[in-house]
Amino acid sequence: MTKTLVATLVGAAMLTTPALAAKPTGTTTDIAPEAMATEAPAPANYDANLKALNEKTNSIGIEVANPIIVIDPGHGGTDSGAVGNGLYEKNLTLDIANRTTAYIRANYPATVYQTRTSDVTMSLDARTSFANSKGANFFVSQHINSYSTSTPNGLETYYYPGSTSGSSLATNIYNKLKASYTTLRGVKTAEFYVLKYTNMPASLGETGFISNPTDASKLGTTTFRQQLATQYAQGMHVYWWGY
Ligand SMILES: [Zn+2]
Repeated sequence: MTKTLVATLVGAAMLTTPALAAKPTGTTTDIAPEAMATEAPAPANYDANLKALNEKTNSIGIEVANPIIVIDPGHGGTDSGAVGNGLYEKNLTLDIANRTTAYIRANYPATVYQTRTSDVTMSLDARTSFANSKGANFFVSQHINSYSTSTPNGLETYYYPGSTSGSSLATNIYNKLKASYTTLRGVKTAEFYVLKYTNMPASLGETGFISNPTDASKLGTTTFRQQLATQYAQGMHVYWWGY
């Protein structure tokens, strides 16, 4: 689509929906407010060569039957993450991670670690160092989105630009989580720290907006968080085992 056509369409939208014209709502170009690769130095055990090797070997049909998975609940401790509608991102992500790990352990032949299992502050370096030290086959970071206004809502997942295995992981997780949302913002790329400096395929999920009352009301229930956790796990299963 040409820029002229986009401008024409945007102009038309502004005429008909002035309330929405001032800001992006559910576009696929917004990037979630997570820590970028430029925000801290790489961890000491980051190995770009290993990352490239794992890109080629850790995908569907590979040789490892029982993968090592690292789940990363975003934020924690003094880092609340996003706050809104009475909820803290750090608490939601920890609960979803705990449930994801429990589901995987109960249903799949995998070894699962979490970067944190309680409300502790954890650096970006510590998160990625942990995954690298465990020799994880893949890494999934769990977050909740936010925006400065209450309108944006829905689902997105991320992978590092150029990572084919990361794309597969992010897409398979997205395809399961889709059932929980009506606004589907897409599978996106971003140079997030935890995606770049993990030595294995990695994805980061943004399951709804804490700043949106409808998303937040759902995220506030254990039923919905369990549903997300199950879908995360099932998406990982499709990524690794192919079904
Ligand atoms: Zn976050």
